[in-house]
Amino acid sequence: MADKFDVIVIGAGPGGYVAAIRAAQLGLKTACVEKWVNKEGKTVHGGTCLNVGCIPSKALLETSHKFVEARDHFAEIGIDLEAPKPNVAKMLEFKNSVIAKNVGGISALFKANGVTAIDGTGKVTGTKQVEVTGHDGGKTTYEADNIVIAAGSVPVEIPPTPLHEDIVVTSTGALEFTEVPKRLGVIGAGVIGLELGSVWSRLGSEVVVLEAMDTFLPMVDTAIAKETQKLLKKQGLDIKLGARVTGSEVKGNEVAVKYSDNDGEQELTFDKLIVCVGRKPYTQGVIADGVGVGLDERGFIHVDDQCRTSVPGIYAIGDCVRGPMLAHKASEEGVMVADIIAGHKAEMNYDAIPSVIYTSPEVAWVGMTEQDAKAKGIEVKTGSFPFSANGRALANNAPEGMAKIIADAETDRILGMHIVSQHAGELIAQGVIAMEFGSSAEDLALTCYAHPSTSEAIHEAALAVDGHAIHMA
Ligand code: FAD
Repeated sequence: MADKFDVIVIGAGPGGYVAAIRAAQLGLKTACVEKWVNKEGKTVHGGTCLNVGCIPSKALLETSHKFVEARDHFAEIGIDLEAPKPNVAKMLEFKNSVIAKNVGGISALFKANGVTAIDGTGKVTGTKQVEVTGHDGGKTTYEADNIVIAAGSVPVEIPPTPLHEDIVVTSTGALEFTEVPKRLGVIGAGVIGLELGSVWSRLGSEVVVLEAMDTFLPMVDTAIAKETQKLLKKQGLDIKLGARVTGSEVKGNEVAVKYSDNDGEQELTFDKLIVCVGRKPYTQGVIADGVGVGLDERGFIHVDDQCRTSVPGIYAIGDCVRGPMLAHKASEEGVMVADIIAGHKAEMNYDAIPSVIYTSPEVAWVGMTEQDAKAKGIEVKTGSFPFSANGRALANNAPEGMAKIIADAETDRILGMHIVSQHAGELIAQGVIAMEFGSSAEDLALTCYAHPSTSEAIHEAALAVDGHAIHMA
């Protein structure tokens, strides 16, 4: 038996690495096991988020956004350029450098906080035991009073579109295309599909998104979803709703995709196809039989509101448990669990977790939609404000989009905020903080906002809840 720890965390994604750092900061002897190795065979921390998720996708979103700004909008604001061209190799280089900086940062934080990094694949073999299989195949068993499973998730694959080299790929492959595909198919109009579709569309691909559901972005307030659909369509994204993919065939360097919609059987041919139909928990083999930790039929680890599994001392967090598959949700669960292990009181407010789709403009929301609230029998009042009436948005040459606040009709308490706008991902923090503090729409309406700022649109939406927006006729 090797070292004994107060806490061993399995997985160094945003759930696991944050849990490990927080536990160490609270004085607990902590180790974090990670199996992910890069092309050079070196262990990398940061999980999906830093290596193939949030961070690399945002690097490409930003570079492709800047390209479109330069190509389509600089002349409008008085900057004349020679026609710019995308340099995909350089963009990938930039993306990889951003990954390397972030990943290196986690290893440095582990060292600075005294977290022991263990390289290899961890498996819970007893209520207080973790067996680690090293990259050389050697096995070591560690003892721990507490175990945190943060094994994350992997992309879902579907039988009609088996992955094929670099032609039919998941989101991971879509971050590695070495040139702009002429015709790009995306299966799934969810967060990841829209983000990646819009990256390559901005760089010049003809993008068709095939979505089985009839409703676009059902988790977003209908008014915001409609506005988003209109804006993405204007950018050239062809989003086909009610399109159920039934099969595919790779022929040479292209893939033919069959789908059915209201008009019957259809077929489209693409140079690349991205399968973005969701992610599933990565829990296979992480827990030995007989330990007693329960999984549901979809492979998620059963936990209570404080991420306790059915076995005392074993916790699970992040994408491998219920709730939205988001990096910040995973991290907050990591902090909560470390605090609980250290003997503090801790809990999470699952009603105030923001979500962002990093298209351009961005879509962001927290809490209920107007439709959710009504379905629950809650009487609501709402206020909306268009960014086209916001001075800063006009000065930014980004007047698209709107903000909407949903408040309880009786108490005025804010139940949700939904935004589509250039910096919606930043603006939504106001809704999150307001909801965390139990604010009313009037609280925001009575707050003094800096001028000129796009945040003023939130102020105006709050004023509009009672029908008194200033800059709206
Ligand atoms: P992961 O990040 O998946 O990390 C789990 C880690 O555990 C991995 O490193 C894995 O190797 C390791 N592991 C698994 N099993 C073992 C084992 N047995 N032993 C040792 N190590 C193990 N979320 C956002 O909030 N914002 C975004 O903008 C965003 N963009 C995304 C874009 C894309 C393209 C994708 C794919 C995802 C995106 N996400 C985003 C989702 C986000 O990446 C995940 O929600 C987040 O990474 C989950 O964190 P986690 O720690 O639970 O799991």
